[in-house]
Amino acid sequence: MNTKQPAPLRMYIGGRWVDSEAGKTFAAHNPATGEVIATLPEGTREDARRAIAAANENKHKIADLSVWDRARLCRRVGDVMERRKEELARALAEDQGKPYHAEALPEVAFAAHGFHNAAEQVKWLETSFIPVEDRNKRVFSFRQPRGVYAVITPWNFPINIPVEYLAPALATGNAVVWVPAPTTSVCAVKLMECLEEAEVPPGVVNLVTGPGPVVGDEIVAHPGTNAVGFTGSPPTGRHIAQRAAGKPLLLELGGNGPTIILDDADLETTTQAAALGCFFNAGQVCSATERILVHRRAHDELAERLVDAAKAVRLGNPFDPATTMGPLNNRPTAEKVDRHLADGIAKGAKVLIGGERARGLGSDLFYLPTVIDNITPDSLLNNEETFGPVAPLMTFDDYDQALALANQNTLGLVSAVFTRSIQNAFYFAERLRTGIVNVNEHSNYWESHIPFGGVAGTQSGIGRIGGKHTMMEMTDLRTICIDVSR
Ligand code: NDP
Repeated sequence: MNTKQPAPLRMYIGGRWVDSEAGKTFAAHNPATGEVIATLPEGTREDARRAIAAANENKHKIADLSVWDRARLCRRVGDVMERRKEELARALAEDQGKPYHAEALPEVAFAAHGFHNAAEQVKWLETSFIPVEDRNKRVFSFRQPRGVYAVITPWNFPINIPVEYLAPALATGNAVVWVPAPTTSVCAVKLMECLEEAEVPPGVVNLVTGPGPVVGDEIVAHPGTNAVGFTGSPPTGRHIAQRAAGKPLLLELGGNGPTIILDDADLETTTQAAALGCFFNAGQVCSATERILVHRRAHDELAERLVDAAKAVRLGNPFDPATTMGPLNNRPTAEKVDRHLADGIAKGAKVLIGGERARGLGSDLFYLPTVIDNITPDSLLNNEETFGPVAPLMTFDDYDQALALANQNTLGLVSAVFTRSIQNAFYFAERLRTGIVNVNEHSNYWESHIPFGGVAGTQSGIGRIGGKHTMMEMTDLRTICIDVSR
């Protein structure tokens, strides 16, 4: 891409590529170099309202299609994404920063599969014929689209997370107004182009770029949207829940996933998995391994192996085929990692490797893969979502202590347990307070039809993403009662 003349991109409202009504734009930066790669419209509340109006005018075009026609539409989108995979992956590497070969191409393949998967799953959304006491009544229920969905997506998986909402929304007959994170809006435009090419009816999916607190807030609070889907941070999720009061919410709000390593675990495979949990996507994953609780007897070997795993990471230019980790996506995230590490060190933790930004790689957003030992229960690393390439270690002496440490948290999305004992696996899997527990597998393992979401009573969200589970969330159950007495 010519960095001297950044591409002027547009948003997509009512089936047309348009500028902001105010004529304002913002710049998209390549996080690896700091260069401006595109300009995008800085949408206003009025732009968001235009998009909401377009979605309402056109929602019948998707709601009225048969399930089989919607499935065909989803299949076409997935096919277009597969055909344009290099272009989408290039946008991901330039706009988000993830390595083109190691992560961007796989994310696009995963996302295309998300559309193909929705095409299959929607055909099996069967509901029930309900037995009732009155012999003259026939009662059954079926699923109907909710209408217009407000969807707000973050910057860590800017192709796949939108697909987690767009595919089931289209499959179940909903129109969408979509606000993507500003730091990865180039990816959003590229994905929107795929939807257009696949002939999603004009006005059914509307893309509004701009600041979340403006255009995002408008689509959440406006009475013209019927329901909200949001992936992002817990504080923004809480705010959105208030602004959307009364609307159905699907909130995926991040975690602080503990990975528990027992003294009977196979430390070779466990270390590889834990490293993937910590370093994949430079740690910018809601299901990332945010803290490792290791039995004292396994600690020294694990720490040594983790340091080796950190040394094996190839940090660098996202387009270099050897690169396995790119920069962090944005400055606030890098500053948060700085803050969490400084807090951990001040409370007595010891950096075994990394612990700071990398120098000489381009921008200052490259972070060295880090292993930090002996973090304390009161540290930010233990209590919050760090969202960086950090493996924080804590030691425990008995299993109940491990469980108490893991559950001492206000977040509850994903955890992992490593053990050779099925009894130990179940002991933890049934007691950990997270929506998902992976046993002998890293915390990031997930397939797009597996129910994924936070456990009740924590700040990790509401509802379940994944295949037909999202479809259930995105539909209303309509019940029809017929009197057949003659
Ligand atoms: P936010 O939750 O603030 O942002 C996520 C998205 O929501 C962005 O598009 C943002 O737009 C938008 N947004 C912000 N405020 C509002 C609002 N009032 N109404 C509607 N939309 C809004 O996360 P950040 O990007 O600031 O990241 C902060 C931290 O959040 C990360 O370090 C990480 O810990 C966590 N996070 C977790 C994610 C996950 O997958 N669970 C994903 C992203 C972040 P804008 O950028 O313009 O504010």
